[in-house]
Amino acid sequence: MKGLMQDWPLLVHTFIDHASIHHGDREIVTRKVEGDIHRTNYSEIHSRSRKFSKALIKLGVKKSDVIGTLAWNTHRHLESWYGITGVGAIYHTLNPRLFLEQLEYIINHAENKFIISDISFVKILEGLEEKIPNVKGIIFLTDKENMPETSLKNVFCYEEMVDAEDDNFSWIKVGEGDACGLCYTSGTTGNPKGVLYSHKSNVLHTLVANNADAMGIKSTDSVMPVVPMFHANAWGLSFTAPMSGCKIVMPGMNMDGESIYQLLTEEKVTFTAAVPTVWLMLLQYLEANNLQLPYLERVAIGGSAVPRVMLEKFERDYEVSVMHAWGMTEMSPLGTIGAFKHGMEGLSFEDKVNIKLKQGRASYMVEMKITDDENNEIPWNGKDFGNLKVRGPFISSQYMKGDGGEILDEDGFFDTGDVATIDEMGFMQITDRSKDVIKSGGEWISSIELENVAVGHPDIAEAAVIGVLHPKWDERPLLICVANEGKSPSTQDVLDFLDGKLAKWWMPDDVVFVDEIPHTATGKIQKLTLRDQFKDYVLPSLK
Ligand code: AMP
Repeated sequence: MKGLMQDWPLLVHTFIDHASIHHGDREIVTRKVEGDIHRTNYSEIHSRSRKFSKALIKLGVKKSDVIGTLAWNTHRHLESWYGITGVGAIYHTLNPRLFLEQLEYIINHAENKFIISDISFVKILEGLEEKIPNVKGIIFLTDKENMPETSLKNVFCYEEMVDAEDDNFSWIKVGEGDACGLCYTSGTTGNPKGVLYSHKSNVLHTLVANNADAMGIKSTDSVMPVVPMFHANAWGLSFTAPMSGCKIVMPGMNMDGESIYQLLTEEKVTFTAAVPTVWLMLLQYLEANNLQLPYLERVAIGGSAVPRVMLEKFERDYEVSVMHAWGMTEMSPLGTIGAFKHGMEGLSFEDKVNIKLKQGRASYMVEMKITDDENNEIPWNGKDFGNLKVRGPFISSQYMKGDGGEILDEDGFFDTGDVATIDEMGFMQITDRSKDVIKSGGEWISSIELENVAVGHPDIAEAAVIGVLHPKWDERPLLICVANEGKSPSTQDVLDFLDGKLAKWWMPDDVVFVDEIPHTATGKIQKLTLRDQFKDYVLPSLK
């Protein structure tokens, strides 16, 4: 017998519909890329996103077209997402920190029809124009006055497009299983792969991410997503915020300690979220200027592990509750969050910190297990570690265009590539990464990519890159080389050679020479042994 409830499809534009009806005058504040502070509300965002939908239709955008967005967190970026999904198209976030070859690959692979961009990225687009022939035009998220001077052809002004329309528009009908968003992984092994979110997966993720033991955002909150929208949907905040009707504070392109502090204080932010590097800059600024955080109640931190000292400072010195979260692009992204369980309330400060240093427990709809290499489950005892695997309705079943082949095991679980323990209470802790990427400032640096460029040097026989600890950036790359026989290139020689071939922030912080790089039986570089070998190494900049 079938149930007799209404068939109400789970679609992302229902978030902004709801916000405009029930929280229409709630503020959305943006530090614009042009520099000034801008104030709008959910009613206006709703109206302007529908105008933008009409403008997109005039440009010929159709259902399932992929529209790139190369933009910081601003009200216009948010509107553009709802405008895109409103015509049944797919927003595709482009990470401006990638280097040109990666952006070129991603834009072409995803078949972007248009790119919506902040004016700050005009040079990137000029560099790409010849290489992305399928892109029919660039829409700059600005007004006529601030349109950039550019050699780009087919350039459009967002504000002019919006101004030319009225908002008499109904969202184009789509199904809840239809794609609405796209975000590429960092491509640590081979090319980046596309993670394609559906309307339904985003709605389910939003409901789960906002439960009381997770983000728990209320209409009375003032929320600042510092985590960029190009990082897995700003951890879902572009949907969670309108669903709850909270105030949103968009930081634009400035993420230094002072700019973040100003917005936290002036806009009375109660909840915020970002990677540890951002919080390190904020804490340094607060300490240097003897400042407090009178309004902030909760900070979600993820993307890489939260350092103990950061956790203790937030909780003890600033009375801000840290929510340590773990997830990945393939998981929409939230997988676990470290909310206490019954019985933990009375624990000492130290014990609470120890629990919060773990990555947390699985949300509803995230099934989690750890296995050995034969897929046998490993017990949840907080000691034994294994491959972390997950299953659920907002976790990828495959990558865009089938890249990477079958990604689920025989039970339908996705291997996260992380290695973890899970304790008796269900709290998971990442112990290692099975891949060897280097995390710098919340971004990934591919060691393989770097090695490939380094061995292009005529005097280098072999190269291996490992991450070494850095107090500000978490990790920085160290390049370890074996020179060709009879050759002895200097560190500076190698750095000069790499300069211009890599994104600036991918440049290794140091180059060292060894006689031999250790290998496994199958000829792979043994990174673990190398890390062990260099465990006491200190970067020259930190000496
Ligand atoms: P991304 O898809 O770029 O969000 O990266 C996902 C990966 O970041 C995960 O597979 C983990 O390796 C790492 N990660 C995310 N959150 C955490 C965390 N809280 N602690 C440690 N590693 C994390």
